Amino acid sequence: MTSALAGHSRFQAAIQWLGTIHGADYLAAKGRFLGPFSVVATFIAALFVFSNLAWDYAVDPEHAGDVVGMRLVQALAVLLLALVIRHRPTGPVARIGMVLVAAFVQISFIEILRQLDGGASYGIGAFLYFFIFVPFIGQAQSLRFNVLLLGFLALLPNLLVLAGYGTHLDMRIYNAYVWMAYGPVALILTLIEHLVLRTYREGLNLRQDAETDPLTRALNRRGLRRLGESVLQRAAAGGRRLGVLFIDADHFKAINDRFGHHCGDRVLRELSARIEQCIRMEDVLARFGGEEFVVLLPGVDAARAQVIAERICGAVAERPFTGDGNDDTDPVDITVSIGLATSTTGEAADTLEALIDQADQAAYKAKLGGRNRVEVLA
Ligand code: GH3
Ligand code: MG
Ligand code: MG
Repeated sequence: MTSALAGHSRFQAAIQWLGTIHGADYLAAKGRFLGPFSVVATFIAALFVFSNLAWDYAVDPEHAGDVVGMRLVQALAVLLLALVIRHRPTGPVARIGMVLVAAFVQISFIEILRQLDGGASYGIGAFLYFFIFVPFIGQAQSLRFNVLLLGFLALLPNLLVLAGYGTHLDMRIYNAYVWMAYGPVALILTLIEHLVLRTYREGLNLRQDAETDPLTRALNRRGLRRLGESVLQRAAAGGRRLGVLFIDADHFKAINDRFGHHCGDRVLRELSARIEQCIRMEDVLARFGGEEFVVLLPGVDAARAQVIAERICGAVAERPFTGDGNDDTDPVDITVSIGLATSTTGEAADTLEALIDQADQAAYKAKLGGRNRVEVLA
C-alpha cells in the first residue's frame, strides 16, 4: 500500500516535472540561457557535415569528388539554420528550420552513401554521429520537441524504404544502431533538462531572497525598484495611472523605547500583513526603510487611492497589534500617516523615484497635520 502510494506520487512528480519544463516562463529562460550555445553548436555541426568529405574519400576515392557539391549544400543548409537560430533561438521558425534541415541532411546523407562504392555498408555508423548533434543544436528547444525530432529522424530512413526508395542500407543494422543510440541521447537530454531546471530554480530563489525583506517578507528596495519600474511602464503603456502610497508608522521610536525592539519587529511584521490585506494581488508592497512602506496601485486614480489609503489607516488603528498569537507581549496601539501620489497618464517625467518622492513629501504633510491621516501634495 505504502509503496503503491509512493509509486503514485513519484508518477505525479514526474508529470509535474514535465509540466514545469514545458512552462512558458521556463522555456523563455532556457532559450535565453542556452540559445547562444545552440548557435555555436549549429555552426560546428555545419563544419562537421562538410568534414564528412574526408570520410567519403577514405571509403571511395574514385567517386568522392562527385559528392563534394552535395556536402557543400548540406553544410550551407546547416549554416542557414545557425543564422535562423541566431536570429531567434526559440519559436516556430527555429523549430521548423531544425526539422527541415535535419531531414534534408539525413536524406542527402543517404543519397551520398548510395553514390559511393560500399558507402551504404561502411557509412551506416555515421548516422550515430549525425544523431548526437540534435541535442546540441536543439538546446534552446523543449525536451518534448527534441525527443520527438530524434524519433522522427530515426524513423525517417524506414519511412523512405516503406515509400519505395532504395536506401541501400541494411535496415536491420541501421535500426539496431540508431535505436540503441536513441535511449542514451534521450537520457542526455533529460539530464541537461534536470541541470537547467535546477539552475533556473536556484536563480529564482536567489533573486527572491535578494529582493525580499527578511523581517516582513515584503519586497525590499531592490525588489521595489525592479518590479516597480515594470509596473509603472506597463501602466504607462496601457494609458493607466499608477497610485503610490508612502506609509510611515507614527511614533514608532516610542514603541521600541517602551516595549523593546523585539516587540517593534513584531509590530512591523503585523503592520506589513495588515497593509497586505487591504490591497489586491496585483498591487506591490515594499518595505522602503525602517518603519516605512511603499504601496504601488496599478490602474488606480487619486480618488480610489485615497479610499484604499484610508482603509489602510483604519485597518491599522482599529485594534491593537497583538502579534501572531504565540507572543504574550502587550497589545500595542499604533497608527500610520500616509502620503499619496498618482502618475499622470502618458507623462514621461513620471519616474518611480519621483512618484515615491512626492508620496514621501505628502506623508510628511500628514505628519504635520496631526498623523493617522492621508494627504496628497497640493
Ligand atoms: P514619526 O511619527 O515622526 O514617524 O516618528 P517615528 O518615531 O516613527 O520616526 P523616527 O524616524 O524618529 O523613528 C523611526 C524608528 O523606527 C526608529 C527605529 O529604531 C525604528 N526602526 C527602524 N527599523 C526598525 C526595525 O527593523 N525594527 C525595529 N524594532 N525598529 C525599527
Ligand atoms: Mg520614518
Ligand atoms: Mg515613523
